[in-house]
Amino acid sequence: MNAPGVVHELPPVGGTCTRCCLALPAELPAADLYSRDPDQITCTVRAAAELPADQDDGESPFGWRG
Ligand SMILES: [Zn+2]
Repeated sequence: MNAPGVVHELPPVGGTCTRCCLALPAELPAADLYSRDPDQITCTVRAAAELPADQDDGESPFGWRG
């Protein structure tokens, strides 16, 4: 269920992994994009990972999907 054109946060200076999903850019799909503007980042893997591990893979009571 990978949507095309996911925007990831660029790795920080001196870093190698994206902060949004802790992946190496080389490991991500070539179609994905990168940005330093939080408003443009659509990758939400990190936000999901910070939720309690026992959450269902669906709607969140915290409304993190914004
Ligand atoms: Zn990402």
